[in-house]
Amino acid sequence: MHAVFRPPVNWRHRRFRYKLVVWRCLNCGAVHHYATSICRRCRSNRIDEDKLPDRARLITYTVVKNPPIAFEKQAPYIVGLVEFEDGTKLVAGITDCDPEELKPGTELERVVRKIAEDGESGLIVYGYKFRPAITRGR
Ligand SMILES: [Zn+2]
Repeated sequence: MHAVFRPPVNWRHRRFRYKLVVWRCLNCGAVHHYATSICRRCRSNRIDEDKLPDRARLITYTVVKNPPIAFEKQAPYIVGLVEFEDGTKLVAGITDCDPEELKPGTELERVVRKIAEDGESGLIVYGYKFRPAITRGR
């Protein structure tokens, strides 16, 4: 978990973290969170860049009270499994709400928030989270 936030890895994942850009295999449907030219599941080179929608629905969630290193300052926080219209599922932080406001099917929208802080390097990582939708759907 900790190693995920080393700067080179963070850099590699930046387009996914900020814009939810994914690389989808046209052969097997696998979704990669970083630019790649070969599918890690089936080795196909038929990869298409795609962007996940800004809105999703909540499937389930949990409240994290004992977080891993670099997430301590945020505890307790909510992590949810969300599903996009096309069926892609993603684990994401849920923000700007109390757990009591959430239920399966809650409509969510993507926002950019601070997601972690590395005390040693001072690196602050921003990325996507989801909150209950407050703007009108399209
Ligand atoms: Zn594939």
